[in-house]
Amino acid sequence: MVIVPKVRGFICTTAHPEGCKAHVQAEIDYVKQHGPILNGPKKVLVLGASTGYGLSSRIVAAFGAQAATIGVSFERPASDNRTATAGWYNTAAFETLAHQQGLYAKSINGDAYSEEIKEQTLELIRQDWQGGVDLVIYSLASPRRINPRTGETLNSVLKPIGQAFSGKTINIMSGELSTVTIEPASEEEIRHTVAVMGGEDWEWWMESLKNANLLAKDAKTVAYSYIGPELTFPIYHQGTIGQAKVDLEQTAARLTKCLQQEGGQGAAYISVNKGLVTQASAAIPVVPLYISLLYRVMKEQGTHEGCIEQITRLFADRLYAGSTVPVDEGGRIRIDDWEMAPAVQKEIALRWSKVDATHLAQYADLAGYREDFYKLFGFEWPGVDYSADVDANVEIESVNE
Ligand code: NAD
Repeated sequence: MVIVPKVRGFICTTAHPEGCKAHVQAEIDYVKQHGPILNGPKKVLVLGASTGYGLSSRIVAAFGAQAATIGVSFERPASDNRTATAGWYNTAAFETLAHQQGLYAKSINGDAYSEEIKEQTLELIRQDWQGGVDLVIYSLASPRRINPRTGETLNSVLKPIGQAFSGKTINIMSGELSTVTIEPASEEEIRHTVAVMGGEDWEWWMESLKNANLLAKDAKTVAYSYIGPELTFPIYHQGTIGQAKVDLEQTAARLTKCLQQEGGQGAAYISVNKGLVTQASAAIPVVPLYISLLYRVMKEQGTHEGCIEQITRLFADRLYAGSTVPVDEGGRIRIDDWEMAPAVQKEIALRWSKVDATHLAQYADLAGYREDFYKLFGFEWPGVDYSADVDANVEIESVNE
């Protein structure tokens, strides 16, 4: 079939297999150009490995450090006249390209929050990886989680806490600016959001791996977080999702203690990453307008990065740069340093106060935002013939074994 983008709200319901392959290839090319990551991890488990920061983590581990990778994600294959999700095509492309380089790469598709998928992953590691995992990347982003121990369905919300918040927001597709008012979350909504996006599931993964003796000595684990500037604080850092990230940080501290029992040098880190267009961030009110201003300013200043550049710096300049991992006063790895640079934030604050329908084109990189959005789903990649008939049924080599 000929596949065209079909955008509904902040999601595109179609994805292009050839374009997704071009995306994965472009990230691999970047990593290869950057050069090898010396002393990198050799066996890496990536939870949330199919898109965004998780996909880039898998690519940097494999093509930068020559690591064997197992990726867990929850994606939909093609069916009838529906395309697969972008994450499905990305995973298929990643595996094919990794196998061509002689790299071990297997993927598990299913609900990472469930006991069943944890068991399946543990079994695969037990079977294939002697000596266990030496890096676990936790990059799940989901609106929902079923707690496998209680059966409760938990739904995360993106709301302020304590009081309603009104702020500028944008419909990225139409370019229409408006003011959005979001009512504060209830206690129940905060509890749910922390249970979905906080540290509980990360801790359960790490406990299961440790109890099964599948962690290498000195294993590291990293979960991703975001802080951002004050102008998004009410909806992000001080909102429900921010609460979940606080929980994630508390989990990291507990996990580090656990990893350092018996004299090990392992540690759990929070890496604070840059705000970027991904399927998860497109869903957050206010944030897309901020990101489109951010893109403009960082491109002007020559410091703009995407997921792959960010994660390359995380591995090469932070996690595997030497005997210690540089962290801030709160113990967090900061690869949002260029986003948070005073020269960037000062300019954004100025533009934020002035941005309106008349000045939108002048201040915001809407074209760049839209391009990145379409690219997430495999569209707008150079060299791909979008008028050609393509087979939407693509297999992930290890998933169909
Ligand atoms: P994303 O939507 O691109 O990726 C989410 C991944 O989680 C996908 O691989 C998806 O398949 C997987 N997933 C979702 N539910 C699952 C389930 N039940 N079982 C298995 N896999 C599941 O998201 P992203 O933006 O890359 O976010 C990843 C992490 O990075 C999040 O913690 C997010 O808060 C953080 N982060 C994102 C940004 C940003 O601007 N995008 C900035 C800083 C930090």
